[in-house]
Order: sequence, then structure tokens, then C-alpha cells
Amino acid sequence: MALRVTFLGTAGAIPTTERNPSAIHVAREGDELLFDAGEGTQRQMMRFGTGFSLSHLFVTHLHGDHVLGIPGLLQTMDFNDRTAPLTIVTPRGTLRRLKRLVTALENRPSFPLEYVEVSDGDVPLRAENYEVRAFRTDHETTAVGYALVEDERKGRFDRERAEELGVPVGPKFSQLHDGKPVELADGTVVEPDQVVGEPRPGRSIVYTGDTRPTVATVDVTDEPDLLIHDATFADDRADRAAETAHATARGAGEIAARADATRLALMHLSSRYAGHTGDHLAEARESFDGEVVLPADGQSLEIPYPDAGD
Ligand SMILES: [Zn+2]
Ligand SMILES: [Zn+2]
Repeated sequence: MALRVTFLGTAGAIPTTERNPSAIHVAREGDELLFDAGEGTQRQMMRFGTGFSLSHLFVTHLHGDHVLGIPGLLQTMDFNDRTAPLTIVTPRGTLRRLKRLVTALENRPSFPLEYVEVSDGDVPLRAENYEVRAFRTDHETTAVGYALVEDERKGRFDRERAEELGVPVGPKFSQLHDGKPVELADGTVVEPDQVVGEPRPGRSIVYTGDTRPTVATVDVTDEPDLLIHDATFADDRADRAAETAHATARGAGEIAARADATRLALMHLSSRYAGHTGDHLAEARESFDGEVVLPADGQSLEIPYPDAGD
């Protein structure tokens, strides 16, 4: 089952000719989710072919570079005769301002808009095989990050072993795989743990939005497959990172190491690094042994299952 992340905007507060403000599209088996929508996000969605069939938009905080794309996106959805509801998730205490932004021109989309306010620990989306959790971040305004966490999957079914034990091919296989014992024709009972391995972990993606490095990012889930972290500055402007409640690439690397992440994607690069990305990658790699990427706008990452190589 494919899980794909597309970086629609990777700039910091000020866009550059190369980078759009923050927006991340996640596609999982027909579900499409958007995290933040900086100005121009809808054009990025067109350029990079993500489509507009979102069910949820998750807002990390109400700084312009994360939300100014919402009115235009909603207007286009409306022009396209969208009828499906859209849920906008936003940090607790920000709903009134968000609604003001959406309704500033007094145009109301004809499709249903639903709003959900969240704070640390809330689960604004519970889907069939995964959920999205909100966690607290540390920015200069009310802000949360989001983690998409898949459920554990059933263990591997050892078909050969089942046949050796005399289980007939057919429905008894799936009964065992579903954790139910089966009785054979001769009265022998085969228990699931004889033929089914340990449950296997699902995948997870953590997106911080703008934040100082914070332990809540480490705690939201174990060993994320992808951590997308604020890396507004490199070490040369570490003091600016602290002052403006952002992270350096090095700080992001330290959080990725503590979280035992598989991959780290650095984003929200300050426009000061336009045209040259400074030492972000090298500095993040000093504290984090996993893969570090600095995605360009439009870049997609496929997230494989942790046991895919087994
Ligand atoms: Zn920002
Ligand atoms: Zn911000």
C-alpha cells in the first residue's frame, strides 16, 4: 500500500523563486491529506499533479506562510463544483482567526466545511488503518505538529508451516491469520501463533511545522519512518533560530536521532539561503546517522514499510 509525501512548498516565511511557502501533500491509498497551505499552494498542487481530492487540511499555526493559500484553494475547489466535505484542523484557540481568513471576502463555498480545533494529544483523524495525532510544538504563536501513524499490521502468515500442520488451503488460512484457532478434521487444534509471526509495525510520518527543537516531537510516535522538521537556519544563524522560535538543521538532526527516525527531511529554509543551501545537510548529519534530505518543491518521497527489506 503506497504512502507518498509530496513537498509542495519548502520555503520559510518569505518565498523565493525556487521555493513556495509551506505545504505538504500526503497520499495513502486513495486518501489525500494536506498539511499547511502557504500562498500559492493550489498552483503547486497543479504543477506537481497531486489533485484536489483532499479530505482534511491540517494547519500547524496561523502564520501567513502556512495559511495564506487556504482562501484561494477553497475558491478553486468551489469553482470546480466540489461537493465533498473538507475538514480543516487547526490549533485550539485559532479557529476564530482562521474562519475570518476563510470568510474575509464573504464568499462561502457551497461544499461543507468542517472545522476541528486540536491540542497536544488529540487525534483529529481516525481512519481505518491509521490516525493523525496532534502534538505540541514550541513556536512564537499557538502551534501544533501532526503525526500520521499507521496501525500495526498482522504478522506474516507461514503458509508452508500451515500446510505441514495439515491445515487445508482455504478459509481456515484467513481464520488463523485473523488470530482465531482452527480445528482440523482429525480434531487437532492449530493455534494462530503456530503459523502467524509477530505483528509488524505500520509506517509513520511526523511533521513539526515551525518549532524550536522539542521533546514532544520525539514522544509522539516511536521510530518515525519520516520526520519532516523545521530547519529554517544553519549554524551560521543559530541565534536567529533561537530568537524566532525556529530550528537549525543541526537541531533537527538531534531530534531525528532521539526519535530514532529512519529519514529526516529538512524544510522551511530561510530565504537567506536562496540559491545556496548553506551547510544544512552536513550539520544535520553530524548528529543523525539516518538518511537526511533537503527536498526541493515538487519532490516526492515514497515511504516503504519498515520491514520491506526483510
Ligand atoms: Zn513558517
Ligand atoms: Zn511560523
